[in-house]
This record gives sequence, C-alpha cells and structure tokens, in this order.
Amino acid sequence: MTTILDGKKTADALMADLKTQVDALAGQGVVPGLAVVLVGDDPASAIYVRNKEKRAQSLGINSVIYHLPFSTSEQELLDQVNALNLDPSIDGILVQLPLPDQINAQAVIQAIDPDKDVDGFHPMNMGRLWTNLPGIVASTPYGIMQLLAAYGIDVAGKSVVIVGRSNIVGRPLAGLMLNANATVTIAHSQTQDLFALTKTADILVVAIGQAEFIPAAAVKPGAVVIDVGMDRNAENKLVGDVDFANVEPIASAITPVPGGVGPMTIASLMIQTVNLAKKRLNG
Ligand code: NDP
Repeated sequence: MTTILDGKKTADALMADLKTQVDALAGQGVVPGLAVVLVGDDPASAIYVRNKEKRAQSLGINSVIYHLPFSTSEQELLDQVNALNLDPSIDGILVQLPLPDQINAQAVIQAIDPDKDVDGFHPMNMGRLWTNLPGIVASTPYGIMQLLAAYGIDVAGKSVVIVGRSNIVGRPLAGLMLNANATVTIAHSQTQDLFALTKTADILVVAIGQAEFIPAAAVKPGAVVIDVGMDRNAENKLVGDVDFANVEPIASAITPVPGGVGPMTIASLMIQTVNLAKKRLNG
C-alpha cells in the first residue's frame, strides 16, 4: 500500500498547534507581524499572497500586504523594505517573487534584515543553513522536512536525489537533507542520464516545473517521492513534475499535487513567522 503524504491534513494539524502558540503570545502582548510586499499584478502571485494572508488571519497573525504598482522603482522598493526592517511590529518580511524587470531581485533580497527574512533567501540565511547553524529556512524545503517527519520518514543514511537546484527549493533542501544526515545528490538540466540517477534514490524530490516529467521507469520501487512541481498539463489541469498515476503504485509514499507540498509551504511560513515573534519576546 502506498502512503499518500497528505500535506493539507498535516498542515492543518500543525496550524491547530500553532494557533495555541499565537494565542499564548497574544496573552503576553505580542502579535506576530508578517509583511508581504507584492509588486505589480501577476495573477499567480496575487493568489499566493491571498492564500498566505488567509492562513495568517485564521491564526491571529497580523498580516500586512503592501501592494505596490508594477512601475515601482528598485529604490522605492528598497525604501519600503528598509521601513519594514525598522518596524518593531513586523517580525517577518516577504517580498513576493518574481519582480518586474526594472528591479534587481537579489538586491531586494539582500536588503531585508536577515533576522526578518522569513523566506530564508538572504545569503546570510543560506550560509547559516550550509554551515548547519540556526537560521530561517526557505518555506518549501522546510515544509518538505516537516511532512516527512510527520509521516515518520527518517532521511538519515538514505540516498536522496533532488532534481532542481533553484535557490527557493533544490539548494536549501539539499542543505536541510545533509544536516539531517542524508546522502544527497542534486540533479539539474545538465545532469547526464538523469533517470538512471533518479532510480537510485530512496527519497526522490522533484522540483523542475515540467508537467509529469518523471515516469515510473525513473523511480526505484519502494521509493518515497516528493513532487514539488505545480504545472499545467495539456488539458490545463494542475499536475506535478511526476507522472502520479504511474509512479504512485510503485512508490512506498508519494505527495499528491495539489494537496502535498503546497499547503506545507504556507504552513512553514506561518511557523517561522511565529518563531520570529517568539524571538522578539524572548530576545
Ligand atoms: P526554477 O525554474 O527556478 O528551477 C528549476 C530547476 O529545475 C532548475 O535547477 C533546472 O535546471 C531544473 N530543470 C528544469 N528542467 C529540467 C530537466 N528537464 N531535467 C533536470 N532538471 C531540470 O523552478 P522552481 O524551483 O522555482 O520551481 C520548480 C517547480 O516547483 C515549479 O513547478 C514551481 O511551480 C514549483 N514550486 C512549488 C512550490 C510549492 O509550494 N508547491 C514552491 C516553489 C516552487 P538548471 O538549473 O540547470 O536550469
């Protein structure tokens, strides 16, 4: 029997626990503050931001959205970020990507106070991760580790293959897996004989953005499969990077799309925002 790694159920359970933590903080006079900066009118970004806001509000987190016009200059955005860096009621700052072409996203990421960088994209937090020091970790990889933990899947000593090396998924996940004592391989578009490599994985994570790209023949029977992809297939249906229908029967556990990694990403953002608020309280 294949275990379906239910991200929605797991996230809901984590959020119920988090709500009691937020209530306890409120009792001590601290309301966690999350600032989300959205530039322009990208429809997908607008949906992500709305989902984050809904989750934050349901928990009692003070979520403030700064919606700036598409024409915003880099300096204007940097000024906004600096103001939020100085705002004591804001614990976490998130600038929704992608940004319009006139803005250098890396400059903006590096302008965020690393201790408020709730997305964990600042090089300081990436460095902390890769030196196995405490820091803020990108939400999607953090959520994947939480999901595996919730299902009692220990990564120590396992062969983990991660397909995709983006700064938001593949790279930080590799750091987390390494810190958790997995043996990690990162694959990407230049990897040769990709499917032979993925077939060696005890735990296969795919984050490439190509609909149903990974066939059953590329998966070791009994592997744990984590599908990060959120893609549209030819019928415009939301699917992952893995051919779920054919891989599910041979995997020991697999995430569905939707309902797998996605809900865990938002839950992780909330958990880390609350952790930052606790730091504000406790110093
Ligand atoms: P990026 O486009 O930033 O990175 C894609 C990575 O996949 C790159 O490293 C690229 O290699 C690699 N890649 C692309 N095609 C292939 C291929 N044919 N074979 C091997 N490697 C390949 O994507 P993201 O990391 O931002 O996102 C990946 C997917 O995850 C998307 O579908 C996105 O929507 C989804 N996503 C889902 C989230 C969630 O919460 N569920 C959160 C974030 C992303 P190279 O570096 O060589 O170009």
